[in-house]
Amino acid sequence: VVVPIFNEAENLAELHARLSAALEATRRPYELILVDDGSTDGSPALLDDLHAKDPRVRVLRLARNFGQHAALSAGMERARGAILVTLDADLQNDPADIPKLLAKMDEGYDVVSGCRTGRGEGFLLRRLPSRLGNATIRRITGTRLHDYNCSLKALRAEVAAQLPGLGEMRRFLGALVIMVGRRVAEVPVAWHPRRRGLTKYTALDLISNYLDFLTTFSRRPFQVIGALGLALAGLGLLGGLAYFPVRFGLGVPLGVRTQLVLFLAVFLGFQFAILGLLGEFTTRIYRLVQHRPFFVVKEFLE
Ligand code: UDP
Ligand code: MG
Repeated sequence: VVVPIFNEAENLAELHARLSAALEATRRPYELILVDDGSTDGSPALLDDLHAKDPRVRVLRLARNFGQHAALSAGMERARGAILVTLDADLQNDPADIPKLLAKMDEGYDVVSGCRTGRGEGFLLRRLPSRLGNATIRRITGTRLHDYNCSLKALRAEVAAQLPGLGEMRRFLGALVIMVGRRVAEVPVAWHPRRRGLTKYTALDLISNYLDFLTTFSRRPFQVIGALGLALAGLGLLGGLAYFPVRFGLGVPLGVRTQLVLFLAVFLGFQFAILGLLGEFTTRIYRLVQHRPFFVVKEFLE
């Protein structure tokens, strides 16, 4: 079980107690990998305590705050289980749902994703963007799920093993694991409002995440620009061809202004087409240069 933790001091004791209870009840061997993503509150000390107290707790401390999905990736790379479970530290997910995910995994799935029910979050700032995001991810991944951003997920070690090679796409683990896993299922899980501590995401973060996702996973924006450009240039060329018969044959009084518009359509159209083409090359280069480190580990208490 891998948990990303950024300033969750108020939640750690209860998280550990409820995770342990849920996991012991499954009678399967387990380990808890608690990833401290550069916390600046009491979390590091509490994690040290848990590590000293419980041999099944491993604490991975990142050198600074790298973000939820970087922390998850770092933890997942060190997990030893055949099945990995991820969830948030703030108890918005319910550890008691883990057996349900495992039972579904036993049916032979590669990835089982939680689907949040009863989300009491604000419509405008949380649920609406969430729906937009889901629709986009659905198009890009081609997998039909209801909720791609639920942190509570189970996946096979084989799926997790493919993630390190995928660079910054891991910024969006939810979408990535269902692209990597072939057999994907969804089970309804409980969702609770955050009781203690603060959310780490503002509305602005959600927008920038969305744009990040588009540019990381999709070349479509460039393709649209290129296609529109070609269409515009095509219209301009057709207009240019029609210009002479219309003006001299039919005697319609077309002047310099029409010529200018046609010239601009062709000229700008080709500019946009070339821009789209350049974008395509940039995307390819972007994928190649993804070797930069996604996180840096400071310490690993095993
Ligand atoms: N988190 C993290 N690093 C960050 C931001 C968040 O490890 O930079 C963790 C956080 O401690 C929590 C989970 O990611 O366990 C989800 O964060 P949060 O609850 O703030 O997100 P929300 O539920 O509001 O979407
Ligand atoms: Mg939360």
